[in-house]
Amino acid sequence: MSERSPAPGGLALVEALVNTLDIESDADSLDTAQGHARFGLTEDEIEQARELRESLRAALLAHAGHPPHRAVTPLGDLLAGAPLVVTVDPDSGSAALAPADTRPLLSRVAAAVAEALVAGTWNRLKACEAADCHWAYYDRSPAGRGRWCSMQVCGARAKMRRYRAKD
Ligand SMILES: [Zn+2]
Repeated sequence: MSERSPAPGGLALVEALVNTLDIESDADSLDTAQGHARFGLTEDEIEQARELRESLRAALLAHAGHPPHRAVTPLGDLLAGAPLVVTVDPDSGSAALAPADTRPLLSRVAAAVAEALVAGTWNRLKACEAADCHWAYYDRSPAGRGRWCSMQVCGARAKMRRYRAKD
């Protein structure tokens, strides 16, 4: 869990999706009507959303140099099913990568990743290294070497464990 402010731009969607599962208590808000509404999911899209969530989590762990938390479908394989198109604003000429179909969550996630790639923010969205947490957070540290969602919670716990291990 984290008191951090949300990730910038479209990454807030990715962060929110990954954080629908509280690993420590096993509470999954994708099991709730509220969770379905939040991501615009129908009943038969829930399993795919869960698969996407864990593939994203593995990518965010990789951003922090950690192995995947479990076997997942590679994120790239999933995103290959969500083509993006280049849109150009006729007035300003500015271009953007947009989902070819805006409805599925997968397409919105693909567009968010593309946007973050352009903004240089994708690698800063990470997952906490604590195995009972793996919460997604946006690393705002100057060097980009953050390891925990919260220094106060997971960082302090890790230090405590190391301290105890020395006894
Ligand atoms: Zn954590």
